[in-house]
Amino acid sequence: MIQKTEYVPTDREQKFLASVEDARYEREIINGLAPFFNEKAPQDMLSFYNQDEVVSLRVLKGGERDVEQRMPVKITRHYYELARNSPSIQRIVKASPDETNDLQGSEDPGHQMDYSPVEGLLHKYEMGLMYVVSTCSAHCRFCYREELIARKEIVRKDGTVKKKGMAKIPEITAYIRAHNETVEKNGGVHPESGREKLREILLSGGDPMVLNNSKIAAWLAALAESGVESIRIGTKEMAFYPQRFDDTFLAMLDNFHETYPQVGLHMMLHFEHPDEILAKDENGNYIEDEKGFKQWVPATGKAMSGLVSRGWLTVENQAPIIKGINDDPDALRILQREFKRQGGENHYFYCGRDIVAYKAFNIPIEKAWGILNESQKGLSGIESHARLSITHYKGKTEVAAVTNEPIPGLAGSENGVVIFKILRNAGSAPDRGKVCIVGRNPDAVWFDGYEDRVLFDEAGLFDYARVSAPGEAPKSASR
Ligand code: SF4
Repeated sequence: MIQKTEYVPTDREQKFLASVEDARYEREIINGLAPFFNEKAPQDMLSFYNQDEVVSLRVLKGGERDVEQRMPVKITRHYYELARNSPSIQRIVKASPDETNDLQGSEDPGHQMDYSPVEGLLHKYEMGLMYVVSTCSAHCRFCYREELIARKEIVRKDGTVKKKGMAKIPEITAYIRAHNETVEKNGGVHPESGREKLREILLSGGDPMVLNNSKIAAWLAALAESGVESIRIGTKEMAFYPQRFDDTFLAMLDNFHETYPQVGLHMMLHFEHPDEILAKDENGNYIEDEKGFKQWVPATGKAMSGLVSRGWLTVENQAPIIKGINDDPDALRILQREFKRQGGENHYFYCGRDIVAYKAFNIPIEKAWGILNESQKGLSGIESHARLSITHYKGKTEVAAVTNEPIPGLAGSENGVVIFKILRNAGSAPDRGKVCIVGRNPDAVWFDGYEDRVLFDEAGLFDYARVSAPGEAPKSASR
């Protein structure tokens, strides 16, 4: 049990925080569908929804199929300008009545809350993920935090029903210190959960970059003072409003690094499609210079350069593969090439999670694997680091291979097989590297599509128990 404590910054922390400058930003956000329904949005943006779309979305208002009840609608001016010339980007942020045709799915995909020992923190792996804010500058329709962004009530494992709370510095740092002290006293592992030191934290939400520099700085410093060795900032802001990565933000990062040089910093960006980063001409073609180099959207290129020029931080991209947005090998190939050329690293592509209404967004697992694999043909080794991951309750799992041919002598493999491999697993990753082989099902969008065709499962993806308390050691499979 973590005691409520007041948080007192150290002198070093206070000195760093006193150096931080905040700026004002003009994101020109349009919030919700009402400005389009009532024609209150800027005149040039009204055509984002045509009359038929306005009518069909309006009739759903207030009912079970209300798209805004499922996921709030939001867009910035910058993203609108990109979307005008890109059907893929439109689909990322533009509400559609089709989204709520089938509301099947989970409000807590992967039972993440089983691993929440303190409000606002998920401590499943060697790292912790924190919800520091519940909104972003714009909202992706496929967001797998729709329950957080829409502030929905979640049923917890103990039966209580409440909204997901935000992380608070006093409670989170007290938890980290208590956990790490126990680990240290116990020879490097926690006696109850089997976890090692909590040494890495991901600031997430929502998007931490909607907070001002002072708030982000307060988190960075408090985590550094608590002994966290590595901090990630998960953000899609470079797509929605790249101007946020301005000199005041970069100066804050520089001062942080100067104050806490031993702490690793990682910017986890989120670009789905090259249309989010590349400049286009009026015919919709990417603009190239005389040598054939594709030109970035100027503000995005500047933001990216600002980050990658700081060699002490890393810049990585991760994104889901979503129906009608980036289920296109050519688009993914350009995205991976360009992101690497500009100095970033391609980290993960994801299969969509089983969120509410996932059928509107997710593509079959085998199709996602085929698209990513096809996209990486012709990429160099350093351009094609990204793997396809799907997040199972047990942990982060790679869709490692899909075969077209049967495995000789293996009944059930007649149409080929899918091989899943556990990459990270709750606690100290006891199952890392274990695989699960299933017979193919081209229609499967989630693990349940393979339940009747499991051929080999040392990973325990189809035979596992949920933990009964957040601090408990993860259960192994019953076999
Ligand atoms: S940026 Fe991320 S958290 Fe925000 S709406 Fe999009 S997917 Fe969700």
